[in-house]
Amino acid sequence: MDHTITESVKAESLKTLKKLISIPSVNTVNGNERAYPPFGKGIDQALKETLAICDKLGMDTFYDPEGFYGFAECGDGDETVGVLCHLDVVPGGDDDKWDSQPFEASLENGVLYGRGTQDDKGPTVAALYALKSLMDKEVTFKRKVRFIFGTDEEILWRCMDMYKKHETLPDMGFVPDSNFPLTYAEKGLMQVKLTGPGASKLKLKCGESPNVVPDSAAYTQGDADKLSAVLEQMDIPHEVDGQTVTVQGKSVHSSQAQDGRNAISLLAKGLVGFQPHPAISFISEKIGMETNGFSLFGEVKDEITGELTLNVGLLEINDHYSEVTLDIRMPVSQEKASIEEKLKEAASRYGLDYKEYDYLPSLHVPLESDLVQTLLAIYRDHTGDQTEPGTSGGATYARSMPNLVAFGARFPDKVSLAHQENEHIELDDFYKAMMIYSDALFRLACEPGNGELAED
Ligand SMILES: [Zn+2]
Repeated sequence: MDHTITESVKAESLKTLKKLISIPSVNTVNGNERAYPPFGKGIDQALKETLAICDKLGMDTFYDPEGFYGFAECGDGDETVGVLCHLDVVPGGDDDKWDSQPFEASLENGVLYGRGTQDDKGPTVAALYALKSLMDKEVTFKRKVRFIFGTDEEILWRCMDMYKKHETLPDMGFVPDSNFPLTYAEKGLMQVKLTGPGASKLKLKCGESPNVVPDSAAYTQGDADKLSAVLEQMDIPHEVDGQTVTVQGKSVHSSQAQDGRNAISLLAKGLVGFQPHPAISFISEKIGMETNGFSLFGEVKDEITGELTLNVGLLEINDHYSEVTLDIRMPVSQEKASIEEKLKEAASRYGLDYKEYDYLPSLHVPLESDLVQTLLAIYRDHTGDQTEPGTSGGATYARSMPNLVAFGARFPDKVSLAHQENEHIELDDFYKAMMIYSDALFRLACEPGNGELAED
């Protein structure tokens, strides 16, 4: 079957993508607030708009009355092919670093700029209009196709928890929120807070997010010259400005912690002999500059996804308490329990209490499974590119339900600009992804037998 995308579908999909980009679907609700809509008006507007578009495309739609998720479907059959997307985006970031406005789609020389063009509105719209393209051809769907729209992917995935509580799970499917050809294994993710005593003399608030390796950590508690001398001796890059000493590291995503340089760990190294505190000693003695957690856990790695990664994302010490936030990505074959146990035990020796903040189990759909092989063959047919499928320390919705893999929409030769300024997508790539998704939906939903899963 020819999956070429018609000019009218191209035009319509572009219009839809521009419209969705113009909705600033950024979470505006604080962590613990109980609100409706749960993550703010922008996200809710994007969800409602998307469902209205699906309705116009001829799909049946459902809006969760509590506002956590929505879905749209078409076709018949006992089995369902799921396509899991997210409509929330990260904030625009630094306006000055954008050549356009993050929430106004701007098209220049075949390139569409705007927040969400890559993550995840562009891929979502590409997959949606791939379905539209099949509907136009009046194909017969022997399985249902259900698009599930999440609203809290960038923070805690509460949308998917609610979906799983209330709705039936698809039998198989894909998540257009990664890169081609596809990702069949993702490490288990654990974020943990270790809390301990406060301190009257030492106050710190370092790091921006658990999943970012901090590129700076500032100390403002006096004796700047002394600390600077200690850091100097240890060859730790830093700046002194009055009584503030700022240690410099290198920021990367925590799943790639080995490529960064953690400023909190560097500062802890300098402070440990100088401003004693259990949280500082723990970081300095049990983690140091290790990004594989060797001192805490021993060697943890497997052949599929490699070594464990560990990042000290946040450190806060104030009058009342101290809190160290760790981001840990475990190889797919690793049991969570033993990591948890070792960490609890080590922390308790420093008088720190262990509290789980977030946990996402790993994803592993075997490489030889029919789902992986079917999608891979489709990608190769359309591109001729023989890049091998990959594994990742990052997290997509593919791990939120069984039998899903992350599939596109970024091509392997294109840079990822997710969460960055000047995020953009080339329209040629957008339409090429649409063609690949059209074939994928056709093979999975119109020719049942495809995508069956290997025994677990
Ligand atoms: Zn995403």
